[in-house]
Amino acid sequence: MKSNCIFIESTFIYISGCVYGSVTYLKFSLVDFIKEKLSELMNSDTDEENPNSPIISIKKFEDIHIDPNLLKAVYAAGFNRPSKIQANALPLLLADPPLNLVAQSQSGTGKTAAFVLAMLTRVDTDLDYPQVICMCPTYELAIQTGEICAKFSQYMNKINMIFAVRGEFVPRSTQLNQQIVIGTPGKVMDWGTKYKCFDLKKIRVFILDEADTMVSTQGHRGHCLRVHRELDRSCQMIFFSATYDEKVLDFVSRMVSNPKIIRLTRDEECLDNIKQYYVMCRGEESKYTAIQNIYGGITIGQAIIFCNTRLSASWLAKKLTTDGHSVAVLSGEFDVGQRLSILDRFRAGLEKVLVATNVLSRGIDVAQVTIVVNFHMPTVAGTENPDYDTYLHRIGRTGRFGKHGIAINLINSDNDMHLSRSFETHFKKPILLLNTNDSDEVQNLEN
Ligand code: ADP
Ligand code: MG
Repeated sequence: MKSNCIFIESTFIYISGCVYGSVTYLKFSLVDFIKEKLSELMNSDTDEENPNSPIISIKKFEDIHIDPNLLKAVYAAGFNRPSKIQANALPLLLADPPLNLVAQSQSGTGKTAAFVLAMLTRVDTDLDYPQVICMCPTYELAIQTGEICAKFSQYMNKINMIFAVRGEFVPRSTQLNQQIVIGTPGKVMDWGTKYKCFDLKKIRVFILDEADTMVSTQGHRGHCLRVHRELDRSCQMIFFSATYDEKVLDFVSRMVSNPKIIRLTRDEECLDNIKQYYVMCRGEESKYTAIQNIYGGITIGQAIIFCNTRLSASWLAKKLTTDGHSVAVLSGEFDVGQRLSILDRFRAGLEKVLVATNVLSRGIDVAQVTIVVNFHMPTVAGTENPDYDTYLHRIGRTGRFGKHGIAINLINSDNDMHLSRSFETHFKKPILLLNTNDSDEVQNLEN
């Protein structure tokens, strides 16, 4: 058979499809596939042309009646129009008397600005004690959220914020004079209940970002509930996430009185602007070859590669570095100062590939991430069952605010295959068959 395939690298992709009962194979090297796909995606329109897109709404920020100083900051941030979740949530969040809200919206659709605008609107700048608590599951996310809060409050007077995160300390008897506390659950709990650095009864707004994981993950759950228990009944409760399973939704809805609920259907959860693929590998070495090829193909943007353990993340990063590739690695094994500087370097584009564990699967917003790779498929801790939510959050590190992105699953076993199929069925979005094989197998197929 005469081949019209491109043979450049040792890893190849087969796009198979049945034509009148016979199987046809188009082959590309993985490196070329990535290059071509990236340039195709980046040259196509962003989701702004699609009226059903979650980043489109018919409203303007003026229609939502936010404070002129906030409006100025919103425009200064380059936000021209609210996204769907912002347009739907903000009128509820700013209503008088305040309403409680449990809201779901896809990754990268601007949930942060929705709750940050609400908390800045609610703060009484004449009072110098904590009135708003915003809790996030990780250190990095708390810092990112605080930076957005600082950006949006730049034209407001007398707004002060403090981070309650690992590495920050306040002496026991200190009374905080900042109006906004942004942090991770353990530290907020310590400062609020143990050290009594502020009065939880005076908190007017309580926000859980990534709310589902906050109330269901061991560790976070106890801390969040402990803080929540101390709050005044009139405190406004605001819960946001891209994912809620039924049990969690039921639980969070019962944590607050008469919540307004904004929900997505299953079909809406997974974004169309993130194209998903899987690549067949045989063994860790073959996965590694695939990663090298993907690395070679990243001509546009950056990539995050997810591993399931700290050990495998550091193994992969070391191996890539030894082979002359410039990569960063971020996992819970580093202290928070190191973690922040690794992420800052990645944001600045100093490394084009970041190998990470699930610590980075949620919330982190790096606009230029064009590719997410699952080196390991996400499974529920201690099982081989699919972790749907983590999958969605991981792939949501690309395709931010309507941009295009690529997600690639590396498949190494029957169970990986089963997991990939489960994600496809669950979210009702295709994960395209892109089998990679070594050259021998390519030759066999050709013959
Ligand atoms: P989510 O929390 O829903 O995953 P983020 O709040 O992190 O999403 O926002 C994703 C990206 O979209 C950020 O880079 C943010 O600056 C941008 N963004 C949010 N709202 C708007 C808007 N109305 N107009 C333009 N960009 C926006
Ligand atoms: Mg978010």
